[in-house]
Amino acid sequence: KILHLAHHDTLTQLPNRVRLMGRLQQAMADARREGTELAMLFIDMDRFKNINDTLGHHVGDGLLVQVGQRLRGLVRESDIVARLGGDEFVLVLTGIAQNSAQNTAQDTAQDTPQDTPRVAAAMAARVLAALGEPYFVDGHELHSTPSIGIGTYPHDGADPDALMKNADAAMYHAKSAGRNNFQFFTEAMNQASAERLQLGVGLRGAIERGELFLHYQPQVDVASSQVVGLEALLRWRHPELGLVPPLKFITIAEDTGQIEAIGAWVLEQALAQVARWRAAHWPTLRVAVNLSAQQLRTDGFVPLVAQALQRHGLPGQALELEITESVAMRDPVRTGQMLRGLRGHGVALAIDDFGTGHSSLAYLKQLPLSCLKLDRSFVMDIEHDANDAAICTATIQMAHSLGLGVVAEGVETELQLEFLRRLGCDTVQGYFFSKPLSVDDCTAFLLDYAIEAVAA
Ligand code: C2E
Ligand code: CA
Ligand code: CA
Repeated sequence: KILHLAHHDTLTQLPNRVRLMGRLQQAMADARREGTELAMLFIDMDRFKNINDTLGHHVGDGLLVQVGQRLRGLVRESDIVARLGGDEFVLVLTGIAQNSAQNTAQDTAQDTPQDTPRVAAAMAARVLAALGEPYFVDGHELHSTPSIGIGTYPHDGADPDALMKNADAAMYHAKSAGRNNFQFFTEAMNQASAERLQLGVGLRGAIERGELFLHYQPQVDVASSQVVGLEALLRWRHPELGLVPPLKFITIAEDTGQIEAIGAWVLEQALAQVARWRAAHWPTLRVAVNLSAQQLRTDGFVPLVAQALQRHGLPGQALELEITESVAMRDPVRTGQMLRGLRGHGVALAIDDFGTGHSSLAYLKQLPLSCLKLDRSFVMDIEHDANDAAICTATIQMAHSLGLGVVAEGVETELQLEFLRRLGCDTVQGYFFSKPLSVDDCTAFLLDYAIEAVAA
């Protein structure tokens, strides 16, 4: 009984990780001897945490038991089904016979086995179908789907640890490919996960080592042609990899819990800098800072912002905070409170990448927003694509009717600018005016621009 307990998961009665590793070792030895192959499906249930959080653990547990039963029902006795813990399951198809053609003399050049991936894909499709069916637990009808990563033996890993690691990397890829799908492991995935790991480690201490800095991109008022604001954009100079783009490292900072410290640092730098510019020549200049979801969830974020403003002798009007649609839509009650607190200090609030998310207007209208930032993807083809033009037109009209301003992002040509001007867009930002600039280049830009504006 003790042996059984040590090797099985008490909830589902399936083999646990320890038992899985032992059986995998054995199955690999058998496969070597028989000239067969194995396929591992690494299975993770999508958004399982939601079910646990909203309906309680016993409902989540009931779902996991059914997942285990459905998986067991799909495979042969000799195949392995194990639960690693949480919502992670592993399925191993054993003894997959190889193309007999491979053993014939004329076909020896073909050294990639054809059968194993096909067998694995067929099983993955069955798993998707079986686990995607609704679950009934305690009177609740639950819906969940799996994301599946596939690795084969010996091709994708010569020992249990290597095969698991690679099937797991493939599963991660399936998640980021939109969930409810399966992906085969490829060497590129290995590199991607190694890189994420390297960046996550490298990011620790990056502030202290002075590797982070900000660039600023001017925002121009359409009517007056004046620079009214600057968006602060984070940069990271990695000692070996050089400049790492923010789209690559910000999600890592979020996943590894480093975004709060980094975000606070960005805010501090941006405010210190805008205070210098305002004191120099541009007393009404405003800086826009991007926020991550976690920052808004931090207790005490509002006082933190208020204190930072005070420390630099700045009014709230000197700061605009940008949040994306999806962040604004999450946890509406709390987000609403937080934003009202910020607005109370005079801070301007912008919805970033507007048009790319799924925000409900009825909800957005209740938030104390200042403006919408029209996403670059709509501005890009504004002169050629009738749909994009229609979206820009409608967004601008709607924003104005709600009393909000509109900032268009990614304006690269004079034609785009003219088009947006005709639509009544308030503010524009993009390469047509300037790329994001270092502090010194930005100061030079502000000086030149003021002179040009006077000359014009
Ligand atoms: P975003 O907030 O939408 O920033 C605009 C991005 O578009 C910037 O990329 C900017 O360099 C680029 N861009 C501006 N004008 C043009 C143009 O005319 N044409 C083209 N092709 N691109 C243009 P960047 O600097 O790589 O930043 C990418 C994203 O990283 C930002 O998107 C923002 O979501 C995030 N990010 C940057 N800094 C921070 C930060 O301090 N905190 C947080 N949480 N996110 C940040
Ligand atoms: Ca932004
Ligand atoms: Ca944006």
